[in-house]
Amino acid sequence: MRFAFYSRSDDNSENIKKSLMEKLVSIGFTFNEQKPELIIFIGGDGTFLRAVHEHLNTIDKISFIGVRSGTLGFFCDYGSDELDLLVSELKYGKTQLGSYRMIEANLKYQTRQTTIYAVNEIRLENPFHTMICEVQINGEKLEHFRGNGLIVSSNLGSSAYNKSLGGALVDPSVSMLQLTEIATIQNNVYHSLGSSLVLGAERTVNLIGDLNRSVVGFDHIFLETGESLTAIEIRLSKKTLQILHKSGHSYIDLLHKTFVVD
Ligand code: NAP
Ligand code: MN
Repeated sequence: MRFAFYSRSDDNSENIKKSLMEKLVSIGFTFNEQKPELIIFIGGDGTFLRAVHEHLNTIDKISFIGVRSGTLGFFCDYGSDELDLLVSELKYGKTQLGSYRMIEANLKYQTRQTTIYAVNEIRLENPFHTMICEVQINGEKLEHFRGNGLIVSSNLGSSAYNKSLGGALVDPSVSMLQLTEIATIQNNVYHSLGSSLVLGAERTVNLIGDLNRSVVGFDHIFLETGESLTAIEIRLSKKTLQILHKSGHSYIDLLHKTFVVD
């Protein structure tokens, strides 16, 4: 197995990396940064997002496994005191494979198009003045939106920004898209749905309008649309993430430990 690391640069993460390097080489794994089959990310959820974007072009050939060097994370299953467990689960094939589709968006400018990809969500926000756009689902008009912005979140992203906006948490075994509003204007002239909308995996969300000065955000990255952006088409991508979970990994237990204090 060819492996490489994607690590946060603090001392704790660096020590975890050194220790894992020795342990993995000793069971016959090969360190290879050019053509890795396995990326071990060390840090937090943000570290996973960065590792994915670093390897986007070869994402279908790579599995990810995470060690947390900080607090509990959604993507990092192993604690820094579980390195031997991680190595033995890899050696004996005891990890649980989870496959998750990424989200993609086609950004349509007046003269060109470009595609972006995200693990968590794709955001369209306007911090300067009211964002106005038409929202279409599979080409059908849903609403004329007025507010600060909209996000389309994946199952994995449901516990991130989507949750802060009041969107639903989603069991990662459900393949879907969730459209969630940011500070909508709701009065007797302007209306929008006013709640999150969960859509089937094959749906397409189109945001159409004069999107100048809006900011397009995806995971930890953002683009300022100085150019005339006219539409964004968002759907689930064919790009799939493969995460090796710790044996016995449970989403419900993760929710309990992360969000419920008792
Ligand atoms: P960040 O500012 O460090 O992230 C904000 C927090 O979200 C961090 O605690 C991060 O965990 C956590 N997080 C990231 N993905 C998550 C997930 N799928 N489920 C639960 N928590 C998650 O920035 P970042 O680390 O680069 O992450 C970018 C993400 O931040 C974006 O995709 C967006 O979802 C989120 N965000 C949230 C808000 C908000 O809630 N108001 C605003 C902007 C962006 P770690 O500390 O382990 O990295
Ligand atoms: Mn972070």
